[in-house]
Amino acid sequence: MQEDTKYTNVIRQQLELDDFLTGGFTIASPDTRRQPVRSENTASQLETVAGEVHQCHKCGLGSLRTNAVPGEGNPNARILFVGEGPGADEDAQGRPFVGRAGKLLDKIIAAMGLKRSDVFICNILKCRAPDNRDPRPEEIISCLPYLQRQIEIINPEIIVALGAHAARTLLETNKSIGQLRGRFHEYFSGIGQPAIKLMATYHPAYLLRSYSPDNRKRVWEDMKKVLSELGLPVPERGRR
Ligand code: URA
Repeated sequence: MQEDTKYTNVIRQQLELDDFLTGGFTIASPDTRRQPVRSENTASQLETVAGEVHQCHKCGLGSLRTNAVPGEGNPNARILFVGEGPGADEDAQGRPFVGRAGKLLDKIIAAMGLKRSDVFICNILKCRAPDNRDPRPEEIISCLPYLQRQIEIINPEIIVALGAHAARTLLETNKSIGQLRGRFHEYFSGIGQPAIKLMATYHPAYLLRSYSPDNRKRVWEDMKKVLSELGLPVPERGRR
């Protein structure tokens, strides 16, 4: 037997043995930090969800909307921002966070050193609730599977829940946003799935209503924690 054939056979046997011992699976790394799985077709999967949202009439809001607002952004975003639901401007344009609160969210994202196109932005409710009233439990129950699928597809490293409705819904708690904001929680997308870190912070619309230096500082502190967690540079001072 020639020398290189002998080595090739030894290597093949070793690989077969490894495959047998590990059951064909890669042995899990001892590093327990969540490693995001990036998929090529996230954009098309998100389009499928958006298509279903546009057709949806699972609750009464479906017949009241001008446009459904599935969400938009980078399909492979590391950060997913989740708000409450579309307002009048979003309903008119079919895009999330494009009104006054959206302009403030844009500033927060820019202060983080990011672009809107770096992140994904969506809501708990995909259709506008009339008179900007709070989402009703039955509306949240109908709509939540769309967001759950978006989270599964995007597989972000961090979810930023904007305001009490997003935070309470995703964390399944009744705690106030004051109690929830400022630290990381864990969002579980399913049995066996690693938890996704969730930072709750004030909703930009609340911030506009209560635009105090303290509240702005609190939101900025929350976003700095998000940047640090992702290993991204933390700008010295946010443009607040
Ligand atoms: N407020 C939200 O919660 N979502 C939007 O898209 C706009 C305003």
